[in-house]
Amino acid sequence: MSVGFLIDMDGVIYRGGELIDGADRFINALLREQIPFIFLTNNSQRARRDVATKLQRMGIFVEEQHIFTCAMATARFLAQKKPNGTAYVIGEGGLLQALHRNGYSIVDHEPDFVVVGEGRTVTLDALEQAVRLIMNGAKLIATNLDPNCPTKNGTRPGCGATVAYLETVTGIKAFSVGKPSPIMMRAARKELGLLTSETVMVGDTMETDILGGAQMGYRTVLTLTGSTRREDLDHFAYAPDAIVESVAEMEDPLAFIRSRLPRGKSEDDTVRLTAMAR
Ligand SMILES: [Mg+2]
Repeated sequence: MSVGFLIDMDGVIYRGGELIDGADRFINALLREQIPFIFLTNNSQRARRDVATKLQRMGIFVEEQHIFTCAMATARFLAQKKPNGTAYVIGEGGLLQALHRNGYSIVDHEPDFVVVGEGRTVTLDALEQAVRLIMNGAKLIATNLDPNCPTKNGTRPGCGATVAYLETVTGIKAFSVGKPSPIMMRAARKELGLLTSETVMVGDTMETDILGGAQMGYRTVLTLTGSTRREDLDHFAYAPDAIVESVAEMEDPLAFIRSRLPRGKSEDDTVRLTAMAR
């Protein structure tokens, strides 16, 4: 049985900076049993090393390669679309670093793209500059469309709010790369070298994690420790394959896969089964 996990963090592993009970046991079991996994976050602020350190301080002993951010997905997508391009950025270190690493230069005028993340760099001056650049032909790229982010002190505006502002002013729609975009969902699977039928997405948000997984043909697990309550499920046309009160129910991952998840459908894969070297 070859299976691997794409795992959201906020509302799944921690909430407002505090570890969710049992999340450390789940992740440490994946490490011990060498089950492939990667954390998938729509937060573009931090670089993967910063995220790994945050998790290590909570007793989850992951490395940089276990982290995949929407900033990384965005930078790789842009590098493929236009190698060695230029970007005007509203965002923080994680996004700037990802763009630099993928051959991009950060500029203040005549950029190929205006790239929007979240964080404290959103100012009226930056928004005005972005509007002018978009009106002059720069393409508007969103790292994600999450309207807000939960923090220790309550809700703060997210990337989606900034993007909506720019869309309203310019009348131009952004292209978004973060969850639930298939671009990020697919890139994360490829990062683990898994087939579609082997991939399981674990998250707390229907509109991003579960929708993103369902669109790709991955199996999905909704955890109720975050933004979704069981009674909210009635409002959606799609549903997760399994629901857990918390990922503590997954601390024996192989038993969970065997007893709680349907089998992955291999007809969803684009690879011919006869050509598979496994
Ligand atoms: Mg979440």
